[in-house]
Amino acid sequence: MKAVAIVLLTVTFNAHAVCNADAARLIKAYPDYLVACENNYLIWQDGEKQLFDDGKEKNAEQLLNAADVEDMFAYPYPVGASSYTPPALNVNPGRVRNDAFFKKMYGATQQAVESQLVTIQWLPQSGHKTVRVTRVNGVDKKLAQVSAELDQLPAALKKYVLNTAGTFNWRTISGTERLSGHSFAIAIDIDTKFSNYWRWAGKKYQYKNQIPPQIVELFEKHGFIWGGKWYHYDTMHFEYRPELLIQP
Ligand SMILES: [Zn+2]
Repeated sequence: MKAVAIVLLTVTFNAHAVCNADAARLIKAYPDYLVACENNYLIWQDGEKQLFDDGKEKNAEQLLNAADVEDMFAYPYPVGASSYTPPALNVNPGRVRNDAFFKKMYGATQQAVESQLVTIQWLPQSGHKTVRVTRVNGVDKKLAQVSAELDQLPAALKKYVLNTAGTFNWRTISGTERLSGHSFAIAIDIDTKFSNYWRWAGKKYQYKNQIPPQIVELFEKHGFIWGGKWYHYDTMHFEYRPELLIQP
């Protein structure tokens, strides 16, 4: 959204004063950290103010590389039966992240994120694997609920999730300088054997997916979005991003 700063006498106004419905969704999604949005600034529990909308128009590449908090909502995350059609060109809902926002909640360094990790049993009735995720925002409890519900699925569905390909990993996204959702211990990759990733597809782009909607919807119910709804698809990837799933 384009905002124009207007200086009147000594008072500066933001023409749009953009504390919109998306700001409200963030406050609702992260109540342990955010208290309000005022005059285009998010107010954190510790009193810090973070600019919400920088007012700059961005193309798809700039959205990924220089996102402000407001840009994280640039592409609405689709839900429901009609949300499984291949995404349109460059439509990546949830792939746009403001690094400072996530670093402030989950930790700004590998050590800081690691200090908040909790080990949970993955599908405890069906396997013996454990995964490590953050306790921040109750992500560990939410993922434990997902795990318990996946455990109740019939074998034909459970096979997609029984093995995982990892959770916490302080790293940049392949081919980029940007931190992945895995760096903040809010993401999990399910079995690569049934997964598709846009970079594996070769030169000619083609959307591919094998993950059934039942799996996706179970994660979404607990606040995790799915990388299969991205143009740059990553169908093994689920990430805790409740702000994109809750309504204002
Ligand atoms: Zn992933």
